[in-house]
Amino acid sequence: MSRCLVISGATKGIGRSIAMKFAAEGYSVATCSRNQDDLDNFLLEMKKLNSKGSHLAVKADLRKKSDCNSFGKACLDSFSEISVLVNNAGVFLPGNVLSEEDGTLEKLIETNLYSAYYLTRSIAERMIENKRGHIFNISSVAGIQAYEHGGSYSISKFAMQGLGKVLRKELMQHNISVTNLVPGATYTDSWSSAGIDRDRFMEPEDLAKIIFTISQLPARTVVEEVILRPMKGDI
Ligand code: NAP
Repeated sequence: MSRCLVISGATKGIGRSIAMKFAAEGYSVATCSRNQDDLDNFLLEMKKLNSKGSHLAVKADLRKKSDCNSFGKACLDSFSEISVLVNNAGVFLPGNVLSEEDGTLEKLIETNLYSAYYLTRSIAERMIENKRGHIFNISSVAGIQAYEHGGSYSISKFAMQGLGKVLRKELMQHNISVTNLVPGATYTDSWSSAGIDRDRFMEPEDLAKIIFTISQLPARTVVEEVILRPMKGDI
């Protein structure tokens, strides 16, 4: 059986590491992002890691419902079975509710929550038909505790936690696993200009290893939530 991963926003950062891990383990990988050059490079990278896979890279702005749906449809048209969906695409904007720029909440909710909501509605349909599948939502420690300058980012990740918990209840009857991954600071481009020592972070590869391992468990056992933090705690 050919195995397939659909992951949003895998051209960079955590998503890229997850895609690389699954491709190296023999999965076909489908992703989307807004930058065509990054998507072309992504396909080359996936082919190098798994030349037999049929990989897909679609230009889409997941803030738009229509783009979420067209990416979902492209995946359904390309793959008869989707083994794993990772809702990863997200943006981080620090701020405070009372002083952040007008429109920040909308931007973060659309990118971090609605993208996962609409993509899941597309992809879960195929998982339900096949009576198997695994959905991972990349949340954040900002989604389980409020912190200074968390602002709307934190609100969007609390909502993402809620989405995962609701999906877990709805999808258990269909034999589909749902896992909320709750990482703390992980070194990606978003942190590169912060001037903080790299050893204060986790690395994206660590998250990729955990997700892959969980995805290989028999369906009778569901890891509902995983909290991961750097050894020295939150930044
Ligand atoms: P990143 O390096 O900035 O990568 C984000 C990915 O999402 C890119 O491929 C980006 O591509 C894509 N993306 C962003 N907005 C998009 C949109 N509107 N439409 C389509 N694709 C979009 O981010 P990261 O640090 O790896 O974070 C990945 C996820 O982990 C996010 O959900 C983030 O909240 C979560 N997280 C990160 C950390 C951390 O410390 N890094 C900690 C906890 C949770 P384009 O920009 O080219 O579209």
